[in-house]
This record gives sequence, structure tokens and C-alpha cells, in this order.
Amino acid sequence: MKCRVCKAPALVKFPAHNAAFCEEHLDAFFLRQVAHTVKKYRLLPPEARVVVALSGGKDSLVTALVLKRLGYRVEGFFIDLGITEGNFSPASRQACEEFCAAHEIPLKVFSLHEEFGRTVPEIARRYPRLCAICGMTKRHIMNEYTLKTGAHALATGHTLDDMAAALFANLLRWDLHYLAKGLPVLPAEDGFAKKIKPLALQSEEEIIAFARLHGIKPVEARCPWAAEAKFKRYKAMFNSLEEKSPGLKRAFYEGYTKNVHRFQEETTRPPLVTCKVCGLPAAASPCTFCRIWRNAIKEDAIPAVT
Ligand code: SF4
Ligand SMILES: [Zn+2]
Ligand SMILES: [Zn+2]
Repeated sequence: MKCRVCKAPALVKFPAHNAAFCEEHLDAFFLRQVAHTVKKYRLLPPEARVVVALSGGKDSLVTALVLKRLGYRVEGFFIDLGITEGNFSPASRQACEEFCAAHEIPLKVFSLHEEFGRTVPEIARRYPRLCAICGMTKRHIMNEYTLKTGAHALATGHTLDDMAAALFANLLRWDLHYLAKGLPVLPAEDGFAKKIKPLALQSEEEIIAFARLHGIKPVEARCPWAAEAKFKRYKAMFNSLEEKSPGLKRAFYEGYTKNVHRFQEETTRPPLVTCKVCGLPAAASPCTFCRIWRNAIKEDAIPAVT
């Protein structure tokens, strides 16, 4: 197995690209791929300031490193959920702190306990669908923080595997609202920061190879609620299809990005009001986030999060 570029012994092989690379050309290939995604979907203008949502996992750490290598002004943002079971939150925080120190990336840590005096496990006692509440909490805080900093966009570490699996799940349900929003970019709107997914066309195996190449040490602890994590079955299905047809996952997702306008024409956003507590757009006022974390109303009156 030889590097496609220099013919030296290859470190990795990517069947989806029908190519193998040595260390040097793996690095160049990965940067070029992400630069292409950034340009094609207009994720960031040159040298833009971008907040990267860090979880301590390899995907978000790689997102931060690759954007920095591409010349963007990266700020890391970590939300400490206060999940001490299995040492999850402390270990995740440490992984982010070590990564940011090693790569000279400024890091802001937002602690739920420090800000609101409560943590996700404390909330879990009340809500059986914890991941829905936790996801909503993270999205709200990341959006609010990015708007406050005035950064050009909020970047998350969603991968091609995430995008293809979410697209498939939304197709199975014919969920037109989400089918209209599956691009690697969601433009800024009043009260909503621009959201970007620079790794949307990179597969797990490419990201793992790049992370190893740069000695990135992601957190090993797992959230005790991770069994609830979305789309596991669909990811496994795509991986087994990909073994027989390399490149299928990417073709499926890129095909969607060319046809997304068909869904966008069909859907209209449900009407929003302004949350009287945080001032951001929401389905109702106070918004679910403010109801739960800012005690805007009695907790037993909180509606289900979808
Ligand atoms: S697995 Fe669920 S509870 Fe754990 S961090 Fe993810 S969304 Fe939150
Ligand atoms: Zn090479
Ligand atoms: Zn609110």
C-alpha cells in the first residue's frame, strides 16, 4: 500500500477515496478536504473568528485543530454538565483543557453548576428523556454564548457519519422541517447564531486517522446516558453498506445537499415569540431552557421537549 502522492509506504487507506496516504500527505489531504467544505458551503470568510463547541471527543477537537490550521481564529467552548458518574464531565473538561493548552487555543468553560446551581444529573431525576433536555440545554447555551461573543459562527464536530445517519432518520419519518435544515451550514438569523459543521464530509475513519496523526487524546470516559445516543443503528447500517460500496455514505449525503432546496421550498418555520427571560426566539415564552435552568416557572409545569 503506497501513498497516492509520493509513493512512500502509506499509513492509512481510505477506500471511499480509492486512496492511501503517508503521514505528510494524510495531513495535507485532510486539510484540503475541510477547506473544500468550508469554501463550497461558505462556512467562514478568511480569518474569521469562530467558536468551536468542544465536548472532549475526537470530532470536536479535530474541528478546532483543523480550523486553526486553516487560519481561522478559533475559540474553544466547553459546557461542564456536572456529570460526575464515571468521571465523565471532569475527564471531558480535562481533555479540552489539555488540548487547548497544547494547541494555544483559548478555552471558555461554562459550568451549569456555577451558573445555575444545578447539574444535568440533578435535572435527570425529574425528566425521563434526559438526552432531549441535555441536547436542548447545550444548544441554547452555545447559541447564546456565540451571539454574545460576536463570533462569525458556532462550529460543531458533526461528521459525515452523523449527517448521513440523521438524514436517513429524517427521511424515514419524512420530517420536512429537519430535512430542510441538514446542510453543513445554517445561516445566522435574528436570535440564532450561524451554525457550521466543517467535518460534514469527513468520515469517522478519516477523522480518527487525523486525530492519531496529531496525537489528539480524546476523553475516554462515556456519559452514563450514552446508550440513549441517537442514530447508532443507522450508523452501523451505513458502515456495513460502505464495506461493500465504498463512498456510498458520502454520495448519499452530497446528493442530499444538491437537492435540499426541494425540501426548503416545502417548509415554513413554525411561528416564534421572544422569550421574556433570555430575549431569544422560542416557541413559547419563557423558553424551555429558561423554564428549566432559570426557574422561570414552576418545574412541574414544564412541557415535554421534542
Ligand atoms: S448522552 Fe445524553 S445526557 Fe449524556 S451528554 Fe449526551 S445528550 Fe447529554
Ligand atoms: Zn506521501
Ligand atoms: Zn429563554
